Amino acid sequence: MTDARVSRVLVVGGGITGSVLSLALAQRGVDVVLAEIRPEWTGAGHGITIQGNALKAFRAVGVLDELMAHGVPFDLLRLKNAADGSVIAEFPTPRTGGEDLPATMGALRSDLAGILARAVIAVGVDVRLGTTVSDITDLGDAVTATLSDGSTVTADLLVGADGIRSQVRSMLGIETVPQPVGMGIWRVVAPRPAAMDCAEVYYNGPKYKAGYSPISADLCYAYLLEGNLDRAHVGEYPGGKVLKERSEGYGGIWGEIRDGLADDAVVNYQWIESVLVQDPWYRGRSLVIGDAAHACPPLIAQGAAMCAEDAVVLAEMLTGDDPVESVLPAFMARRFPRVRMVLDNSLQLARWEMSPTPDADPGRIMGETLQALKAPA
Ligand SMILES: Cc1cc2nc3c(=O)[nH]c(=O)nc-3n(C[C@H](O)[C@H](O)[C@H](O)COP(=O)(O)OP(=O)(O)OC[C@H]3O[C@@H](n4cnc5c(N)ncnc54)[C@H](O)[C@@H]3O)c2cc1C
Repeated sequence: MTDARVSRVLVVGGGITGSVLSLALAQRGVDVVLAEIRPEWTGAGHGITIQGNALKAFRAVGVLDELMAHGVPFDLLRLKNAADGSVIAEFPTPRTGGEDLPATMGALRSDLAGILARAVIAVGVDVRLGTTVSDITDLGDAVTATLSDGSTVTADLLVGADGIRSQVRSMLGIETVPQPVGMGIWRVVAPRPAAMDCAEVYYNGPKYKAGYSPISADLCYAYLLEGNLDRAHVGEYPGGKVLKERSEGYGGIWGEIRDGLADDAVVNYQWIESVLVQDPWYRGRSLVIGDAAHACPPLIAQGAAMCAEDAVVLAEMLTGDDPVESVLPAFMARRFPRVRMVLDNSLQLARWEMSPTPDADPGRIMGETLQALKAPA
């Protein structure tokens, strides 16, 4: 038994959002079932930039120390010229998680996913891999879901944390779908050059921009942003040769990374998309959070932070004194302005990358966004 207002929650999707939510709820005494569609619970290999407010959320569920043991913290963002890597400017990054946490940390996504998955299993969450939801029936004061393995789960709440193409979102009748932003991103994990000490971004080059972050003592992840290429390029495959060709014209450390890439290095290319569910994120006893409700282009590297914050805040509110019926609108009212600010500002930065205007001031927008995120989630 628990004194929480909810005693059982079904979480659909075991990415960052679903894992942090499952962990936070289970740590508060809630019985959690987690349905993850992938038969194996592993994270993609590429890197992630984790900002202070995300680190704060990871600390809230007790995984920060393990994460810090793997990742690379830094407090600086350096801007460079594409041609020769000469420094344009460098800025201290605001510590959005508080002064006792680094501003930013680079990490391998698979390390983060593994740390979260182990913690979720250790706290006793009922994890159902290779499983999705095939039917949702709202009972008024509870919800029953039929899972793809034929079992049924009745819970106080169903949370769709199943990502930008959320199936739960459609099952709830929410018609919002992802929209292409107009730019595509190449990513690769590569050996970390000795001179790399923080995230750096290269401007004034042949593409929108290029950059990298250190993610371990030996590795970095590098990216290149350009216009949308044919869909045939989308995916993860041995495409080092293509990325080397596409990134011609970038010097400095970026050039060093490129020149060291094998022709068959595994690269990832995606069209960047965004989503924002404007209507309530909930229907009866079901709701969507994380990328299923709001996904922003990664221009401020805040997507996962918004997801992890959603999860921690929702778990806190669901296990407080208020009934579920009032928690859901209160949760959305608390989260919506913050995620919309991040999304709007990320989209503005993307527009300026694609079509620079005389008033373009990305440094100001980045700085204002990160300063605003110092406020509690
Ligand atoms: C190119 C790119 C770079 C990015 N870089 C950064 C960055 O540096 N920093 C940052 O903070 N954010 C970044 N982001 C954003 C960040 O990756 C996402 O916001 C975050 O990972 C979303 O987490 P999620 O758990 O909500 O969704 P997802 O990561 O999509 O996880 C959804 C989970 O649900 C599962 N699932 C899907 N459908 C079903 C179903 N029907 N039933 C059951 N399970 C299902 C999936 O298998 C998956 O495990 C980036 C995004 C992109 C696209």
